[in-house]
Amino acid sequence: MMTKDIDKEFIANTYARFPLTLVEGKGSLVYDEGGKEYIDLGTGIAVNTFGIGDEEWIAAVTAQLGKIQHTSNLYFSEPCANLAKLLCERTGMKKVFFSNSGAEANECAIKAARKYGADKKGEEYTTVITLKNSFHGRTITTLAATGQDTFHQDFKPLTGGFVYAEPNSMADIERLCAENKCCAVMFEVVQGEGGVNALDKDYLAALAEFAEKNDILLIADEVQIGNGRSGELYGYMTYGITPDIVSTAKGLAGGLPIGATLLGEKVKDTYTPGLHGSTFGGNPISCAAAINVISRLDGDMLAGVKERSKYIFDELNGAEGVLSVSGLGLMIGVETVRPAADVISECMERGVLVIKAKNKVRMLPALNIPMDKLKIAINTFKEVCRK
Ligand SMILES: *Cc1c(COP(=O)(O)O)cnc(C)c1O
Repeated sequence: MMTKDIDKEFIANTYARFPLTLVEGKGSLVYDEGGKEYIDLGTGIAVNTFGIGDEEWIAAVTAQLGKIQHTSNLYFSEPCANLAKLLCERTGMKKVFFSNSGAEANECAIKAARKYGADKKGEEYTTVITLKNSFHGRTITTLAATGQDTFHQDFKPLTGGFVYAEPNSMADIERLCAENKCCAVMFEVVQGEGGVNALDKDYLAALAEFAEKNDILLIADEVQIGNGRSGELYGYMTYGITPDIVSTAKGLAGGLPIGATLLGEKVKDTYTPGLHGSTFGGNPISCAAAINVISRLDGDMLAGVKERSKYIFDELNGAEGVLSVSGLGLMIGVETVRPAADVISECMERGVLVIKAKNKVRMLPALNIPMDKLKIAINTFKEVCRK
């Protein structure tokens, strides 16, 4: 039986998978069951930060694997403490809660914001404003936070206490804050699943000012754009704002499950023992992997992200068959004349993996993808778009 047949019979029917089974890889090259080679511009949805099987990353992971694989949060753990210290030093945030996924990182952020609102402004100050077209996860609460009706339909009743603002409209934020008792605004600086749209600089600056004045927390969902992908360590840094809470996951550990919620000055003491927890959260292997990833996201690595990003934007802006290019750093959305699904499957046939975001083709290459491989992939993509 082929993997795809076993999967079809035994895996819950939640994914519309591409007809492809990936079995191994190295760097930005991956191989299917038949040994066919692909240049990977998807990195497992922005997870494999340095591609497949990066030597330094493997060394960090296996060293920790040889020591202890799990401790539980009943005890102190070295990689967990050191990763939190590193993240705080690099961001100016004050404390970190570790979990296992983006949705959980957001759940922690939402719980912290609600407790802050209730403690500071009064019991009923628990409404969280999120943006239309956002994506924050698949749990019942993060689905409620997600500002897209299509995700809500089948799962009502969802968690209450979320209202949705039009992206880039301060008027909408002000209206919702007047109509509701709000504790926070949650946003992605680049909406990923919503179509790779970056928020306006002026909007985020005005939002930050409004939030400061009204004691509304800013929660940056950096699950996808975070960890170097924007060209800065976190995407909000390219906007010059300082969120009160930052959630991240996907690329943080370079291919192992992790979620992190970074708590700033205002909320650093909001949680007290017993209020939140996770069995696997802060897992030593994941944390050792993340220490390797974060410590390598230095000036040189980030300059490399910007350089690759500029190359892709320059190549695709105005290219035949390309209608628009959006995004930031190495999180790029391309609107094509041909339907995105056709472009994606033809690229796959020709050995290039790209993914979808709404009606766009999305590219999320490894931050250190070799330029020669990137050039081949972009040329193939352009040829496919031209048809
Ligand atoms: C992927 C994603 C999530 C959900 O992360 P999971 O690890 O799948 O739970 C949340 N927010 C954003 C912005 C994402 O891109």
